[in-house]
Amino acid sequence: MLCFAKKNVQAIQIFITIVCLLLPMLSVAQQSVDLKKFNVVAEEVKELKKTDLVLSLKQLTVYEDLLDALTIEQNLLYFKLVTEIYIEQNKYSTAKKMANKGLSIAKRLASPSILISEILYLKGFAFESLGDISQATKEYKKGLEVAESLHNKVQVASGLINLGAIAYLTDDYKRSLVLLNDAYNIAGQTDDEELKGTVNTELGIIYSHLMQDEQSMAYYQQSYVHFKKAGMLLAAHNSLINIAMAQTYNEDYEQAITVFETIIAESNKDTPSDNMFTVYSGLSWAHLTKLDSNPDMAYQYLLMAKQYLQFTENLDFRLQFYIDEANILYELERFDEVLISIKHIEKILANHQEMPQVKKEVYVGIINLKAAVYYKQGQFQQAYQTKSRVIALTDKLYEKEDNRSIAQVRLRLEAEKADKQSKILYNQKILHEASLHQANLENKEQRAYLIISALVALCFAWVLVKLIQSQHKLKVASNIDTLTGAANRRSLMVKSHKAFKFAKTQQVHLSILMIDIDHFKNINDSFGHSVADKVLAQVASLGVNMMRKSDIFGRYGGEEFMICLPKTTIKSAMAIGERIRLSINEYQWPFNNLEKVTVSIGVATLEDDKDLISLIKRADAQLYQAKITGRNKVCGP
Ligand code: GH3
Ligand code: MG
Ligand code: MG
Repeated sequence: MLCFAKKNVQAIQIFITIVCLLLPMLSVAQQSVDLKKFNVVAEEVKELKKTDLVLSLKQLTVYEDLLDALTIEQNLLYFKLVTEIYIEQNKYSTAKKMANKGLSIAKRLASPSILISEILYLKGFAFESLGDISQATKEYKKGLEVAESLHNKVQVASGLINLGAIAYLTDDYKRSLVLLNDAYNIAGQTDDEELKGTVNTELGIIYSHLMQDEQSMAYYQQSYVHFKKAGMLLAAHNSLINIAMAQTYNEDYEQAITVFETIIAESNKDTPSDNMFTVYSGLSWAHLTKLDSNPDMAYQYLLMAKQYLQFTENLDFRLQFYIDEANILYELERFDEVLISIKHIEKILANHQEMPQVKKEVYVGIINLKAAVYYKQGQFQQAYQTKSRVIALTDKLYEKEDNRSIAQVRLRLEAEKADKQSKILYNQKILHEASLHQANLENKEQRAYLIISALVALCFAWVLVKLIQSQHKLKVASNIDTLTGAANRRSLMVKSHKAFKFAKTQQVHLSILMIDIDHFKNINDSFGHSVADKVLAQVASLGVNMMRKSDIFGRYGGEEFMICLPKTTIKSAMAIGERIRLSINEYQWPFNNLEKVTVSIGVATLEDDKDLISLIKRADAQLYQAKITGRNKVCGP
């Protein structure tokens, strides 16, 4: 027994010795497997992050505690990818932190790496998105220096494009043109067709800001040629969609039609079906909207678009199809069929538990179309019931609006009393049935009316929304600020520039509101970042919900928002500002001890401003006035 026990002890001792010897080897083996795998994972993440940001981040952060075991280059790659992902998620502050970590590790390098330049550009983009243009410019310049020292032409050109884009955002068109032309020349010395395509796209955009439409189109054309050479058919066709969009914007429907037809002629079986669906829908929309509207032709193109529906799982395309179909059939006076299309729409939307605002609006627009069909068919009872539903839904959709807007809308409606929509409601028979709720409903109907007419227009514009979305694929990062859900600075400025240009050329009103949260620093300090972030998001949501479809609301930077109001006089803009101020002032915050959040607002309206920045500056000066005279107020000229 004893002997056996002794043997056992010996065996255990030997086993322990072996384990002790093997353990360090095992962990070395474990590490070397991970190290090797890192490059593979990094390569995979580059692809994966095009489709799944969350999973990409997960794959990378596995290495968070192993960074010391990786090489400096691998560290840089890690931080570059992580920064890119945070930027894609619009988490700019975190992106900045990650970029800084990477850059501090880069100091250990004996000679510069192109990754440093890439990280600096990312850091610059994070600053740009947070509204710190001067710091963004500094980072872009530093990145450019590194790229130049390494004679990396592609990266040099990219830096110039970044600086060029920032210049046109601040209305420094001359500087922007110089930079983009430099980028254009350098790109020309490379055989990077994608880069050339991108520079041409940027030049197209700046020339459209400069109201040089022909020049702008020429660059879009070139970008198309380059993307095509690069074998990037999708990007090439996006360039064409850019062109068709610009033409649609200028109401050059005939030309837009030609461009859409070019895309069709060039497409082969490999072309993604979603793209073709968009093109045919675009054609259909152009034929329906042009001056000598051709609903028959529009319907034929819509049926072509329908063919591509079977290839896509994207419910939005289905929704878009039936919305277009309902509207076209209505124009064709095929009312029974309109009701069938509407049934399809209702079925699709019934499966959408959490509808975004835009879909809710489309839904209400469609129910309104249903009411119009019943009216056309002489089914007044049904028309009335459906119309009441539209009013109830509209009311729910905009329930956050206060009573002031009702009064405003009512005033504007006085002149439109004879309208056929009102006739449905004021039909004698119906009036009798409605007598109990009449007073209440009358108020709501008047308020709903304007919104509803906007919704009908929105249904027609659904195709356009889709077109714009496909154009957005071209851009470096998303146009939405995920923290607040509002437009981010770049997209805010691009849209506002367009509106400014339109107001200038068409000689219509345009007003700007600058909104800054009061003492936001205190909210951060007293309640923490996470609550402060929620406050920021809620303030944005209160603002966004008060906007009309054509209004542009976006995060200007930090805790500052900007609203661009097309076709709005200073008087209305002041009133809108006051409504926003009030709704934020009265909001009941669900956080312990946080009683009140207030904003200060500065308002200015287009006068003889030569550019958008001059108008923004004047609104900013008014905001400053509001701040120094006590905050929680709206100041204007
Ligand atoms: P004032 O009434 O003069 O505007 O005072 P203020 O404290 O709001 O203005 P200040 O510009 O001094 O501070 C703004 C603060 O907003 C500083 C910054 O930390 C914070 N901030 C900016 N962006 C964000 C964000 O995305 N999240 C959070 N939590 N805070 C932010
Ligand atoms: Mg501020
Ligand atoms: Mg502030």
